[in-house]
Amino acid sequence: MQKIAILYDASQAVLSTFDLDEVLQQILVIARDYFHLQNVAILLLDNESGELYVRRQVGWDEGQDKVRVRVGTGITGAAAQQKRPVYAPDVSKDSRYLKTSKTTRSELAVPLMVRDQVVGVLDCQSANPNHFDSETADMLTLFSTQASMALQNARLYSLERRRASQLEAINAIAQQTTAVLDLKELLSKVCLLIEQAFQVSQVSVLLKDEDDLVLRASHGKLTPRVPEGGRLPSRAGPWGRALEAGKTLVENNAKATSDTGLYVETDSRMCIPLVSFGQTLGVLVLDSERAGAFHSNDTQPLESVADICANAIQNAHYVDRVKQLAYLDGLTGIFNRRYFELRMAEEIERARRYDSGMGVIMIDIDQFKRLNDEFGHLLGDEVLRQVSSILHQQLRKIDVVCRYGGEEFAILLSQTSPQHSLAVAEKLRRMVETWQFPGVPRPVTISAGTANYPDHGTTRDELVKAADAGLYAAKQSGRNRVCLAPDPQRGLAQAGGK
Ligand code: GH3
Ligand code: MG
Ligand code: MG
Repeated sequence: MQKIAILYDASQAVLSTFDLDEVLQQILVIARDYFHLQNVAILLLDNESGELYVRRQVGWDEGQDKVRVRVGTGITGAAAQQKRPVYAPDVSKDSRYLKTSKTTRSELAVPLMVRDQVVGVLDCQSANPNHFDSETADMLTLFSTQASMALQNARLYSLERRRASQLEAINAIAQQTTAVLDLKELLSKVCLLIEQAFQVSQVSVLLKDEDDLVLRASHGKLTPRVPEGGRLPSRAGPWGRALEAGKTLVENNAKATSDTGLYVETDSRMCIPLVSFGQTLGVLVLDSERAGAFHSNDTQPLESVADICANAIQNAHYVDRVKQLAYLDGLTGIFNRRYFELRMAEEIERARRYDSGMGVIMIDIDQFKRLNDEFGHLLGDEVLRQVSSILHQQLRKIDVVCRYGGEEFAILLSQTSPQHSLAVAEKLRRMVETWQFPGVPRPVTISAGTANYPDHGTTRDELVKAADAGLYAAKQSGRNRVCLAPDPQRGLAQAGGK
């Protein structure tokens, strides 16, 4: 009768929940109470290390249960190795016995089997010698099958749940990424979604830029070694090896390698090349602070995610390019007036906020109509291209050079004083004047007007108008010269160069 009651209770425990620890805890408590045991534990087999570790126990003090036992050592290790129960009726006389508790006098270890594989051991210890008669041993062996079943169920369930949540995540990532066309926004969203769905400590995207990889986005809780925007050589490190091999690289004990990773705490890492339509764009890097965090089960879903991301990144690149085309001048390749107007608004806002000043230069090629008439329109076009390139090369990266229309150019100088704007315009004027334009046997010259925020205006229209007034003054006073915009108080343009 008692046998039936025990087995009934145990199977109820197995069926009551999918939470493995809860099931194991209930099984241990039932075993302890029915069989009057001192300590009971369920140890699981870690296949990688070949060691048994305590997954759940009752009776030991906290912290004493951290023991890891090699298969073959101790009573539990012997049971796992021999695939049958091992009994030590008096542990003091059994050389295999490993002392983990002062009061234990007898020990019975029953292997937990799933099909013909040992997955763990049910370890029962009693404070009495010869505690386990053959009936108790049989009962505990039967009982151990309940624990095996619970383990098997929990494994299947968690695998299923993991698969389902990964599929859901892949779907969510696919849906959310196709909707985002801005690259920066896309990358941070990708990192966030992967971090949440796959429970890693950190997700990073490295994108190729010439010979380097650039850390373009990341999300997580680890301490970075490389700042966002930081560059890494694309041929070194784990990401370099993943790129070179063209396949996913998993390191489950990263601290043991000589690589300096992206984050301080990393102990597992997965690097997945980002490939879209045969073109390698970069690497998706997942970091975990746990050793052995990446299962082979996770590789495939994460590779699917990486593929989705790579395609989305490629799309965002195309969109960037198309957007850029809308802001580029077809003849000269420099920015157009639309872009100038857009940037002007941004630069004025920046100058206002940081009280930093900014300059505008309006440039017009002198007697261009005559040049066209004399040498033809095609040569005129070539002169426009060359003037654009001179302006572009002479300015800083942060300055913006645009073809404003026809033979007119507009330049935006950030954080610049009126005197400096004038000096820059003068330098450009001289450069053009001395440039040998192929096919044009005489100098080509430009006139320019400059205006500054806030000296000559505080809005885009006021500043363009002021610089135009300077340009007009330069033309009026004989061309091939530079004039500062009229002083708003006095209304007179102030001559600069030549
Ligand atoms: P000024 O010194 O007063 O500026 O005289 P200008 O001849 O340069 O001025 P105007 O505005 O009278 O003439 C500008 C000329 O620029 C007229 C037009 O044919 C020419 N132009 C405008 N866009 C292009 C272009 O894309 N290619 C060529 N080749 N010429 C162009
Ligand atoms: Mg003109
Ligand atoms: Mg002109």
